[in-house]
Amino acid sequence: MPEYDPVDPPVALTVAGSDSGGGAGIQADLTAMTAHGVFGASVVTATTAQNTRGVEDVNPLPADHVAAQYAAVADDFDVRAVKTGMLATAEIVETVTEAVADADAPLVVDPVMVAATGDRLLSPAAEAAYEGLVAAATLVTPNADEAAVLTGDPVETPADAEAAGRELVTLGAEAALVKGGHLTGGKAGDDAVVDTLVRAEEAGDSESAPAVDRFETPRVDTDATHGSGCALSSAIAARLARGESVREAVEAAVEGMTEAVRRGYDVGEGPGAVNPTV
Ligand code: PLP
Repeated sequence: MPEYDPVDPPVALTVAGSDSGGGAGIQADLTAMTAHGVFGASVVTATTAQNTRGVEDVNPLPADHVAAQYAAVADDFDVRAVKTGMLATAEIVETVTEAVADADAPLVVDPVMVAATGDRLLSPAAEAAYEGLVAAATLVTPNADEAAVLTGDPVETPADAEAAGRELVTLGAEAALVKGGHLTGGKAGDDAVVDTLVRAEEAGDSESAPAVDRFETPRVDTDATHGSGCALSSAIAARLARGESVREAVEAAVEGMTEAVRRGYDVGEGPGAVNPTV
């Protein structure tokens, strides 16, 4: 009889929506977490009916059931990092903000508001409810549109992205990664994606000015980027769960995304999804 010889990876938790098409949401998160060497637990906030062409329907789950899922996971596992994705309603945003307040683990907030297809994934009331969650975040990972919603200022250039990152840190996040996938006009032009990381303090020195890092990666010529935000934030959370610093985790995860997009899944009739396993 084979001997029972279990493995004991760190546990990370994703709090996010289900994508029936499999390319984004919980499905991408768990794939990325497995690929980055952690065990992924999952709290489902909503189910979506969608495929590679778009989102047909969004069904938020009752907030008290989201809270019950979170409590069940937190009661049992030594959760080393939490990542939030699509939270769907103001009530769920508030419930999750309350739940994570007790967590003794890094919190990555991917403020999923609009899908790459342009479909809204969050009610307008819920956008306003993000304030508390941003303030609790170890790292918030908006794209340009989401950074604009969160800060109230347009984000169109790399300089705007840095200003938005600084503002998010002022709003209480320990760090902000403003993703440049939709930005053009920087020094790097259209051949590169520039992601901007702003960290509130260096080496625990709360008096120091925010540290700013720019990560430049080659732009892959495709619109098949569904799931890229989910895979990136989950890869970062997994690396934080394994003990990496925010800067180390972000740098490695950002670098990995080029290949995740290049070797994306060409499934379905619409644009495919990224491949979080590469
Ligand atoms: N979460 C869910 C459930 C989604 O359906 C989507 C996009 O459709 C997202 C998150 C965001 O996906 P992305 O990683 O492309 O930003």
